[in-house]
Amino acid sequence: MAKNLIQFQKGLSIHKFKFMRLYGTEEQCYQRLFNIRWPNGYICPNCHSTHHCQLQPRALYQCHSCHQQTSITSGTLLSNTKLPLTVWFLAIYLLTQAKNGVSALELSRHLGISYNASWRLKHKLMQAMKENDDKQPLDYIIQLDDAYWGGRTKGQKRGRGSPKKTPLVAAVALNEDYHPVYMRMSVVKRLEKAEITKWARKHVAPKTLAISDGLSCFDGLVKADIYHEVETKSTAEDLEELQDKYFHWVDTMLSNVKNSLHGTYHALRKKHLPRYLAEFCFRFNHRYRLEKMVSALLRAAVEAPPMPDRLLRLAESRW
Ligand SMILES: [Zn+2]
Repeated sequence: MAKNLIQFQKGLSIHKFKFMRLYGTEEQCYQRLFNIRWPNGYICPNCHSTHHCQLQPRALYQCHSCHQQTSITSGTLLSNTKLPLTVWFLAIYLLTQAKNGVSALELSRHLGISYNASWRLKHKLMQAMKENDDKQPLDYIIQLDDAYWGGRTKGQKRGRGSPKKTPLVAAVALNEDYHPVYMRMSVVKRLEKAEITKWARKHVAPKTLAISDGLSCFDGLVKADIYHEVETKSTAEDLEELQDKYFHWVDTMLSNVKNSLHGTYHALRKKHLPRYLAEFCFRFNHRYRLEKMVSALLRAAVEAPPMPDRLLRLAESRW
């Protein structure tokens, strides 16, 4: 059987010390962060002037024009962190290279930090993954399906519409060979037309072709300038053929994400589900670049705004 090239690609091995050789010291991490944030040299985030002085090595930069003082992490997701950069880098490594993710508890053991610190670190990085992927609307052809998160308790309705379940929209963008390129999974308030219109305006490029099974809420796609093709399941034989032809990838992704989240996280709080879904999607969306995924997440963390604890613990916005 042919080797799966994605599964067998070279990552950044920790045991051969490649990762530690690159990012084992504060100085190395600082330099990498600087190059990602200011690839052409320091620029004042306030007035964009490049004239500056450095108050202490690896401390504050002061702008000659507006006198604003800036640290390497201020204004980024790493703002006000008390953790060494080496811990951030190692967390980024562990979150990106493990196929099914790493729980906050496991991360705290690997990093030698408290569970609370590890939880905050992990949720900040998941938030960066979400914000990064959300900037890229899906396009060309997408397979679309609805799904639910959460178990059914005895006596509740099965399937669509059970009251305790959280509704999701799952979308997989395909290339011209009908292979999956990107995926997005979003929690929605309800599976209703108006909600789908809002979701599509944010996550799908206009004129994209979306294929769904015709659940009535997906009629809301048209208002967002999406071409909507409905493939209905009329008989049992049809169902199998249609599933295979039109919904193969979105079905596979949904089943993978459910297995992965159930396997890694024993107590996943529903209010943070969007971040967990985004973490899974980010790894999938960057799967061809395992080695570069560390830099991609680092860049996402630099581009994401600071996330105070108060916001981190609130329920995540739906889309
Ligand atoms: Zn300035």
